[in-house]
Amino acid sequence: MRIGTGWDIHQLVEHKPLIIGGVLIESNKGSLAHSDGDVLIHAIIDALLGAARLGDIGTHFPPSDKKYKNISSALLLRETLNLIQDYSIVNIDSTIILQDIHLNPYIPEMRRSLASIMNIDESIISIKAKTAEGLLGEVGTGNAIIAQVALLIDEKQSVDDTGSLYWV
Ligand code: MG
Repeated sequence: MRIGTGWDIHQLVEHKPLIIGGVLIESNKGSLAHSDGDVLIHAIIDALLGAARLGDIGTHFPPSDKKYKNISSALLLRETLNLIQDYSIVNIDSTIILQDIHLNPYIPEMRRSLASIMNIDESIISIKAKTAEGLLGEVGTGNAIIAQVALLIDEKQSVDDTGSLYWV
């Protein structure tokens, strides 16, 4: 098994949608980003790549590459899963830090959305939401959002012709 951690931050500005975990959140501000700015999915991608020792999101999906402009982060997450096909996801735990918007009502939908994007059971996905208690500068004033992720992946096993287990 291998552990991975991910962290991401985005500035929040007016006239941008706020998308977290693939779910559109009602808000008058959204993430300023090259992609759709899904802070939670970006942190999950970094955690998956880190666990598999495959670098980070910027290496695989550079913001300088025009093909990633305004791209759905769900597509980037699916591409990431293609890179780590030798592993299965054991569990994902995450925390979103956002000052002004109460995210708890959205958490069931976010878990369903992430489970669907990654084709995993939502029972292994945990999402927690909290404020910055008015601290942490831009986060505390509602002008930025942070996501933190820890997850575990496991090498897939198969059974060969002789019935013995081996690692793929
Ligand atoms: Mg990001």
